[in-house]
This record gives sequence, structure tokens and C-alpha cells, in this order.
Amino acid sequence: MDYESVPKVGAQLGSASVIVIDDSVNIAWLLNKTMHFFKHESCGKCTPCREGTYWMLHLTERIAGGQATQEDVDLLRSVAGQVKNKCLCALGEFSIEAVLTGLERFPQDFSERVSAAK
Ligand code: SF4
Repeated sequence: MDYESVPKVGAQLGSASVIVIDDSVNIAWLLNKTMHFFKHESCGKCTPCREGTYWMLHLTERIAGGQATQEDVDLLRSVAGQVKNKCLCALGEFSIEAVLTGLERFPQDFSERVSAAK
């Protein structure tokens, strides 16, 4: 595990902390907890991070709570894509890693929550 190899699997070492979860954890729920952290830590200096973390938190809240539609999931992906490569520091860029990787690798965790909303 090093700074060159971890980004290749869609993650970042960041502060070198590791969260271990088992397969009973819904990734949409975990993303919501992750976005609480990034929204709280965003200093607000640049718009993509300030607004992006706000909207990603709002959308993951709806998804995790079973109140979202597929459009909300698509919007979450779109917001993360718009933040990418537009932030002044690493925090904003790191804020989208879990979102994009989670959507790509665990789509069933999102479709479960969207289905629950119907
Ligand atoms: S990317 Fe960095 S500078 Fe920009 S708002 Fe987020 S924490 Fe502040």
C-alpha cells in the first residue's frame, strides 16, 4: 500500500487512516457518513468543494434514507464529476473518490435504496 498504487484502485491514502467494514454495510450509507466528514472539513474557499460537498451530502442523505430516485443517484455522479480537478486543495479532490468508486463498484447498494423509495 503506497501513494502510487492506492489511487489505481479508486482510493486515496489521505491521512493514512483505514476503515474496515464487512459486506453487511451498505455503501450508500457509508458514503453518507463519509460526506458528513468532507462537508464539515470543507473550508468553503472554493466553489466546487463548498457546493459539491453540500450537494453530495444532501443527495447521499436522501439515498441512504431510502427517499431518493434514480435521478438523485445520477445527479450524485454528475456533481462528483463536476468537482473533479477543480478544487484548490486535496480535500475537495478526495471528497469525490469514495462517491465515484462506490457508484462504480457497488451499484446494487444504490439500486436497493432507490427501490426502497418506490
Ligand atoms: S478544496 Fe480545499 S480550499 Fe477548496 S473549499 Fe475545499 S478545503 Fe477549502
